[in-house]
Amino acid sequence: MTLQQWQDKFGTNEACYAYLVTQRWPDGFICPKCQGTRYWTIQRSERTAPLYECSQCHTQASVTAGTMFHRTKVALRTWFLAIYLMATDKRGKSALALHRELGLPYATAWLLHHKIQHAMAERNAQYQLGGLLELDDAYFGGVSHGPGKRGRGIDQDPVVVDVSLTGKGRPQFAFLEAVPDLTKETVLQVLERRVENLGTWLSDGASIYAAGAKAHQADHKVTPSDDPEAPKVFHWINTVISLAKTFLDGTYHGRGRARRQLYLEEFSYRFNRRYLGTPIADRLLTACVQAKPHPYGA
Ligand SMILES: [Zn+2]
Repeated sequence: MTLQQWQDKFGTNEACYAYLVTQRWPDGFICPKCQGTRYWTIQRSERTAPLYECSQCHTQASVTAGTMFHRTKVALRTWFLAIYLMATDKRGKSALALHRELGLPYATAWLLHHKIQHAMAERNAQYQLGGLLELDDAYFGGVSHGPGKRGRGIDQDPVVVDVSLTGKGRPQFAFLEAVPDLTKETVLQVLERRVENLGTWLSDGASIYAAGAKAHQADHKVTPSDDPEAPKVFHWINTVISLAKTFLDGTYHGRGRARRQLYLEEFSYRFNRRYLGTPIADRLLTACVQAKPHPYGA
């Protein structure tokens, strides 16, 4: 869908609310209390979601209740446009770009950006990589200063990177997770969440991946990093790391692992849907509608 088509479809708050209604009540309104299907709507203001009141028991239901749009002070069409922009911009839309392009106060743009990133992270958490995988870790963020542990600098996080490959050896999906350390315990937890059992794992033979492969009953193929074949074997994971670093350098200048992780989730979300084209915006809208409310107002 082009931006123009998106705006034709979701250019008014009414159209956006109508869309949410079809998502929440695909077969028409059903009273959450008495299951009645007759209702009237109460429009409180142009900017807030209409209330649906059951004509039988007078229970009021909001179409945004339980979603990240609940009690938002931002017009829904602005939310929908932010979702489109963040989904389709290959370099990622920063909060600053949303602030400028949507004419929102920076703090509001930041909150929209933050919540949409959370929706991406929730969706990522529903998937695991399987089959043929490359696994490695890299340091992200900050500047590498002096003799840190394996080159760790100030405000840098180790990031565990998993990339799945197609049968033809092309990259398919990727996850990147910032971790406090690269101990076996930490890395095993990440792999438990992100990677299926079985399959074939390619790594440089680090003991954390050997332990992970064992726990996942995966076939583990080791290519030491000084092996002449290593650049070929790890070509795609190195490419993904480099793309992710470029993305973070361009959009994220803050500190802290949790924030950095949200940017890594955003990167993974778009990377894993890079062949979708603009339908990625519809997918992200669905992810946002289904995302749990997050404890930040907007
Ligand atoms: Zn009712």
